[in-house]
Amino acid sequence: MIRLTIGDDCIGCGTCEQICPQVFKIVEIEGRFICQIQEVDFDAFLADIDEAIEYCSTASIIKVISQQLVEV
Ligand code: SF4
Repeated sequence: MIRLTIGDDCIGCGTCEQICPQVFKIVEIEGRFICQIQEVDFDAFLADIDEAIEYCSTASIIKVISQQLVEV
């Protein structure tokens, strides 16, 4: 299971949106363009998410991988 967040250094360049528009969307907030994460199943776009992380020039896409707890 992964979680994605966008750091404060995002400049709204749109590269991530071009690579994976299902997950990343550029929005304008108070005159500033930034990336917003969409509520989708990230597992369906893992390769594109990793490519967007690789090409983000400001290293603003933060991916956290967490283990799901499994009851035994
Ligand atoms: S590629 Fe990086 S800097 Fe550009 S919009 Fe996406 S998160 Fe922001």
